[in-house]
Amino acid sequence: MNTGQTGIPLRVLLVEDNEDDALLILRELRRGGYILGYQRVETPPEMLAALQQQTWDLVIADYTLPQFSAPAALALLQVESLDLPFVVISGTMGEDQAVAAMKAGAHDYLMKSNLARLLPAVEREMRDASERRRRRQAEYALQQSERRFRTLIENASDLVMLIDATGLFYYVSPSTERILGVTGEQLLGRSLFDWIHPDDHPLVRVAFTQTLEQLASPLALQFRLQENVVNWRIFEVLVKLFQDPTGLTGLVLNARDLTERHHIEAIHRTLEHERKLNELKLRFFSMASHEFRTPLSTILLSAQLLESSRSDRLDAKELRNLKRIQEATKSLTQMLTDILTIARAEAQKLEFHPQLLDIEQFCRHLLEECQLLSRQHPLEFEQEGIPYLANVDEKLLHSIFSNLLSNAIKYSPNQTKIRFKIIYHAQEIEFQIEDMGIGIPLEDQQHLFESFHRGRNVGLIEGSGLGLAVVKKCLDLHQGRITVLSQEGKGSLFRVCIPRSG
Ligand code: ADP
Repeated sequence: MNTGQTGIPLRVLLVEDNEDDALLILRELRRGGYILGYQRVETPPEMLAALQQQTWDLVIADYTLPQFSAPAALALLQVESLDLPFVVISGTMGEDQAVAAMKAGAHDYLMKSNLARLLPAVEREMRDASERRRRRQAEYALQQSERRFRTLIENASDLVMLIDATGLFYYVSPSTERILGVTGEQLLGRSLFDWIHPDDHPLVRVAFTQTLEQLASPLALQFRLQENVVNWRIFEVLVKLFQDPTGLTGLVLNARDLTERHHIEAIHRTLEHERKLNELKLRFFSMASHEFRTPLSTILLSAQLLESSRSDRLDAKELRNLKRIQEATKSLTQMLTDILTIARAEAQKLEFHPQLLDIEQFCRHLLEECQLLSRQHPLEFEQEGIPYLANVDEKLLHSIFSNLLSNAIKYSPNQTKIRFKIIYHAQEIEFQIEDMGIGIPLEDQQHLFESFHRGRNVGLIEGSGLGLAVVKKCLDLHQGRITVLSQEGKGSLFRVCIPRSG
C-alpha cells in the first residue's frame, strides 16, 4: 500500500484495472488534502483479501473490468456486511447502468471525464458514512442497554410492575408468573386491586395517591397479593412515580416477596415464646419441688420413726396405714423429681455428662436394686455379643432403666418372669426389657411417651404417667431410640438402642 502527503487520512480501495485511471483518481483525491492509503484490486479474490486484511474508508470501482465489475464488487461488500461508501466511476456508463448501480447500493457514480465531481462526492459520502456509523453505534448502545435492562428485569426475583394512575397493569415482569402463578397476559389491562388483599386497599390507595400527587416518592409499604384462590403472599413494595415519554403518568412498583421471611420470623417468635414458657415452667417447678420436698421428707421420716418406735404396739390396720403414708410420700417425691426432669429437658437445661461406663456391671447392679424392690418377680439377665464400654450419662441411664424395669414389675402379675437382655452391636447397644404382664392397648401405644398419659387398662395400679416421658427425654440426649411391642393381656417388650459413643 502507498501513502500520500499531509491532510486527512483516507484508506481507499480501488477496483480498477487501468493503472493510469487509478493514478488520475488518486491525484484528484490528493487535491482534496487527503493522506492516502490505497490498494488497487482487479479481481474478486484480490478484493476479498484486501477487505479481510484491513479496514477501508472508501471503495471506488470502475464499472467494468475484464474479470470484475462494480456491481459484483458491491455484492462482495454486502456479503462481507461492510457498509463503506461506494463510488462508481466509468468511462462509458449509460444512465441505465448508473441507476442499476445506485439501486444495488452504490452511493454515487461519476464519469471518468468528469473527475472534478469526485472530491465533493467523496467528502459528502465520508460525512454520510460517519453519520451512519455514529447512528449505528448509538443504536447498538441502545440495544445493548435495552438487552441488559430486559435481562435484569426478566431475571429479577422481585416483581416489577407498571400500572397506570387508576391501577391498571401495563407491564409486569416475568417473575410474576413464578411468584404469583399468573402470566403477564392474565394481568395486563386488569386492575392491581383485584390482586391486593381487600384489607390492604385503603393503605395502598393512600400510598398511590400520595405518589401520584408527588407528595412522596419513592414510598415503601407492605401489602398482600393473592397467589391463588386461598393463599396470600406479603410483599414489601417500593412505589415510584413513572412518566412515559408519551406523556402517560403511572406508577412503577418494585415488590419483594417477604412471605418466607415472615414465616421464618413467626417460627422464631413461636420458638422464643416456647423457650420463655419452658423457662418459666422450670422456675415454677423448681420452686414448687423445693417447697414440697422438705415437708414430704418430714412426713416420710415421721411415718418411718413411728413405725419403728411403736412396731410392737401397732395393730395390723395402723401398720398398713403407716405403710400407705410412706408409699404415698415416696410416689409424690418421685412425681416431683419426674416433673422437674421433664421441665429441665424442655428448657434444654437437663444436664448430660457422658462418660465411659461398664454397661454390664451397671445393669447387674440396677437389676439387684430392682430385685430388692420386688421379690415377687424373677429378673433374668442375658447378654449377646462382646461387651464394651459405652459413652453414656450414668444418672440418665439409671433413670431410663429403673423406669422401664419398675413398669415391667408394676404391670405384671407376681411370679411372672421379667427378662433384661443386652445386645452389643458394632455401633450401638440394644437393651430389651420384656414382661408377661397386662400389655398395652394398641390405641395407647402411640401416646405412651407423652406426659401424664396412662393406658386405659391400668385399673387400680398406681402411677403418674410421667415415667416414660422421662425415659424419652433422657434417651433423646443420648440420641437413642425406644420402641415398644406389646399385646394386651400377653406382655410388653421395650427395646432401647443407644449409640456406643453417646
Ligand atoms: P405410669 O406407669 O406412672 O403410669 P409411665 O409413663 O411409666 O407412667 O407409663 C405410661 C403408661 O404406659 C402406663 O400408665 C401404662 O399404661 C403403660 N405402660 C408402661 N409400661 C408398661 C408395661 N411394662 N406394661 C404395661 N403397660 C405399661
